[in-house]
Amino acid sequence: MRCGARYRRRLDDPCPRCGPEGVLDVEFDLAAARRAINPRVLAGRARDQWRYRELLPLPAGARVARVQVGWTPIEDAPRLAGWAGVRSLRLKDEGRNPTASFKDRASGVGVARALARRARVVACASTGNAASSLAGAAASVGLTSVIFVPESAPEPKVAQLLVFGARVVRVKGSYDETWELCQRACAAYGWYNRNAAVNPSLVEGKKTCGLEIAEQLGPEVPDWVAVSVGDGCTIAGTWKGLREMRALNFIERLPRMLGVQAEGARPLVDAFEQMRDLRPGPARTLADSICVGHPRNWRKALRAVRESGGAFVAVSDEAILEAMREAGRLAGVFGEPAGVAGLAGLRKAVAEGIVPSRDRALAVVTGSGLKDVKSAMRAAGQPVTLRPDDAELAAYLKDRPLWAT
Ligand SMILES: *Cc1c(COP(=O)(O)O)cnc(C)c1O
Repeated sequence: MRCGARYRRRLDDPCPRCGPEGVLDVEFDLAAARRAINPRVLAGRARDQWRYRELLPLPAGARVARVQVGWTPIEDAPRLAGWAGVRSLRLKDEGRNPTASFKDRASGVGVARALARRARVVACASTGNAASSLAGAAASVGLTSVIFVPESAPEPKVAQLLVFGARVVRVKGSYDETWELCQRACAAYGWYNRNAAVNPSLVEGKKTCGLEIAEQLGPEVPDWVAVSVGDGCTIAGTWKGLREMRALNFIERLPRMLGVQAEGARPLVDAFEQMRDLRPGPARTLADSICVGHPRNWRKALRAVRESGGAFVAVSDEAILEAMREAGRLAGVFGEPAGVAGLAGLRKAVAEGIVPSRDRALAVVTGSGLKDVKSAMRAAGQPVTLRPDDAELAAYLKDRPLWAT
């Protein structure tokens, strides 16, 4: 992505000339893939991410994790469409993956690559979800996982790690510092590095979201796909999947990508608006999964948005909490703060005239709300507490009717 050099089968590391700044981009023989897969062939395959094996960087017969990743549902959300201000709105609910986030897609491929390389130990730095997905997939096949998380990672995510038997290192520092420590540790100890921004195979795992959107919606592919952005791998992967399915003739046109960051961690929004390269900036937001000041895959993220004719927007933490509440109330979908940030960004982009209200949109809800219960309670408030007494209930309902008159 930086110097333009090309390599054969260098699938787990960055460009040797550029180091971590030189993220590689995997290219497949799409003509061969077109001959191998079409809607009829796919119809006979298992409903998980391995249905697209010709488009994934795995050797034939590769061992994979024993948990089912992908083929998450796309739900129509007409009531939420009204709130967002678009003609129609669909949600792809990534909370339905085995460890309850989009990251399972990347870790599935990461663990398969680690097994193919005969690694014994896999490691990553993570705000939480990459970690829990890696720990879960590793546990299913008996790999040891070493996980670096910033001190601020929400407790439910840390609980997942511990339950999956990972060696957890909580780092007194920011995510960006945690990431650097993990990079050095992988180099020093020879662990398989699952950090998505430097390991190009992981974006290929994330790509399966885009492959699915195209296969699941076909001619109904939306005008916009909204995705929250931290390091940038999720939006880059989703876009790559959509592009490949266009090349394979599953869809006739491509959506525009809407990248959404938090106001307090918006280096990609600034780079996009000022039409320049990335400058790392501060990172402060309650949406921990996108609390990233130095996005490691910024080139791919910017390329996805520019190539698609899309846009980047930033949303406040209050807007994210509102989206959390409204996605729950109006669509029955419970996302963590970063999980619904894309949705909050969609509403903002409509209000700002970036997304026309006649357009049809899809928001990827990237992680489950159960991952961050503290924020959920902030978004939704507290329940009433009563004694087990009919009169007390009646008085309460009189005071607070279910429907305002
Ligand atoms: C990691 C993550 C993101 C952002 O993905 P990047 O590849 O870092 O841009 C968004 N939402 C959730 C829930 C995540 O875990």
